[in-house]
Amino acid sequence: MQKIDQISAMHLAAGALQRGGQRLALIPTLGALHAGHISLMKLAREKADTVIVSALVNPLQFGPSEDFARYPRSPAADAALSEKAGVDLFFTPQAEEMFPRGFSSHLQEEAVSKPLCGTVRPALFRGVLTCWLKLFNIIRPEVVVMGAKDAQQVAVVRKMVTDLCLPVEIIVGPTVRDPDGLALSARNSYLTPTQREEALAVISALRRAQEMVAGGVKSADRLVAEVTHLIAAKRRLRVVYISVVDQHTMEPLREIIPGQCLLAISYWVDEVRLTDNLPL
Ligand code: AMP
Repeated sequence: MQKIDQISAMHLAAGALQRGGQRLALIPTLGALHAGHISLMKLAREKADTVIVSALVNPLQFGPSEDFARYPRSPAADAALSEKAGVDLFFTPQAEEMFPRGFSSHLQEEAVSKPLCGTVRPALFRGVLTCWLKLFNIIRPEVVVMGAKDAQQVAVVRKMVTDLCLPVEIIVGPTVRDPDGLALSARNSYLTPTQREEALAVISALRRAQEMVAGGVKSADRLVAEVTHLIAAKRRLRVVYISVVDQHTMEPLREIIPGQCLLAISYWVDEVRLTDNLPL
């Protein structure tokens, strides 16, 4: 596996691979890699000849009171894990080179990015899109692989790709969970065993909603009320949002449209904010 940390070297390497007829897949990440990321590397391998993972704790996507400084960083372990998973190229650009002093061009999607996480984390998607568009320009991947765990991020990136005619194909891998059901996330490392135990109430509540839909319930309000009720029983949990939304527009729905909607949630476990979603 080749490791690159400079933009110009990455651009040259990607260009040479493409001239050699290679189809490139990119998996943008914040690092702190886990089995969820590995599943995307495997998927990328099926879709392209060269698999590139980028790892950067992107400062643009964190708000001033968020966990940028504390976000887990494990570059050596990330490289080892990527190499073991068969990644060809591991790109770790420096934040100072990506966004130097005076950087002033940002990309803002104005619709899909607004609800849900967009209301509570206004910097998030502007930061993600600006960083990803820059990564796309440096690498020019044919394929970008992302996780359904971040369903709104998928919808926002798809919208950018469509609106701006970006020549990339988006592939989405399913959410990887621990055996107890908790969706893998770098932020799970913030949880104590007791907090983690309480967080499991969220996935069981989401699964309960899926069962209700399978049993014929169509009302989004009923599903949201049931999930809210189940979560309210846990002292450490506070819901930030819970909503039945269209999977492409992220707009709230009153009634389930099978196969087209998600139950999306963001919640605090004490001071740790996590997100999850299930398709309905
Ligand atoms: P992150 O490093 O959190 O920015 O995630 C990088 C990519 O991995 C994004 O496309 C995420 O949606 C995806 N991802 C994160 N967690 C998981 C998971 N548990 N299962 C599948 N994909 C994931």
